Amino acid sequence: MNSKCQCVELNDGHFMPVLGFGTYAPEEVPKSMATDATKLAIDAGFRHIDSAYIYQNEEEVGLAIRSKIADGTVKREDIFYTSKPFQLWSTFHRPELVQSCLERSLKKLQLDYVDLYLIHYPVSMKPGENSFPTDEHGKVIPDAVDLCATWEAMEKCKDAGLAKSIGVSNFNRRQLEMILNKPGLKYKPVCNQVECHLYLNQSKLLDFCKSKDIVLVAYSVLGSHREKKWVDQNSPVVLDDPVLGAMAKKYKQTPALISLRYQLQRGVVALVKSFSEKRIKENIQVFKFQLTSEDMKVLDGLNKNIRYLTLDSTAGHINYPFSDAY
Ligand code: NAP
Repeated sequence: MNSKCQCVELNDGHFMPVLGFGTYAPEEVPKSMATDATKLAIDAGFRHIDSAYIYQNEEEVGLAIRSKIADGTVKREDIFYTSKPFQLWSTFHRPELVQSCLERSLKKLQLDYVDLYLIHYPVSMKPGENSFPTDEHGKVIPDAVDLCATWEAMEKCKDAGLAKSIGVSNFNRRQLEMILNKPGLKYKPVCNQVECHLYLNQSKLLDFCKSKDIVLVAYSVLGSHREKKWVDQNSPVVLDDPVLGAMAKKYKQTPALISLRYQLQRGVVALVKSFSEKRIKENIQVFKFQLTSEDMKVLDGLNKNIRYLTLDSTAGHINYPFSDAY
């Protein structure tokens, strides 16, 4: 089984495999595990690999990709690799730093190009700062980054051949519209990568993206890594949902596979992270069964608008994306 034949055409003519392998792991996880897991994922059939400068694993992930090319498992063109700029969220967001950050990623990866380059998050920091500037009350001082100027820098990365496609991540509808309505827009974002799972199904944002030929790429499809630093530990666990559990039994599948399948059937590209060989092999089985339209509706009904990655420390920022309804 191999996910490369299951692709969606992007609005720039390139193709993206509908199932992607996530590579973010908490800091305490040894980085070398990203190499082993990425190799296992490619062996299992994953062809879409998601990383970012901030994950600090691009050297390890690049090593895995190159070793799977060297041993003949894949060719470079079989792999769809996504990167995102900046060290700490948007440090490298500044238009003048967008391309140099991609060049740094490519150096770490030892690759000539990425398939997809994304603005990671619409909030920015000043270059060299490791935290958002705050006032005397600890409130973040708005430092509006010009998203349109940043987008123009992204367009230059595509023109330079360093990124085949360009897109955004964690943008709300208003921010997407800002780019789409930009005078002189050269390339539309091909996708918006956002948190999306059974408890936050993003149906309105999905409808909007579909109407603009922008692919919605879902992260945290299984309900996120639940890392203490980022996620409220009292929040409900998607994979423990009783309705999901009953459906998994009915289909003789796991709750994880039902969650992944749900996204693919509604036209969403799904990322999934696992560093366990057993679960990597399990997750690629998503192409082997189908959910009925009645069961898709049941799953639609599980939505609770629960966002796990709220990034509260940036909530005072003018470009904070999660205050709008969608
Ligand atoms: P996720 O894919 O929802 O879930 C990952 C968790 O589920 C892991 O702890 C994994 O643990 C476990 N898991 C994987 N397969 C499973 C299975 N079959 N059954 C049960 N548990 C399973 O979480 P995520 O890491 O938050 O998101 C995925 C990827 O999206 C990230 O790695 C990253 O590439 C991307 N992402 C992007 C952003 C952004 O701002 N753009 C934000 C977050 C994530 P094991 O490893 O132990 O299997």
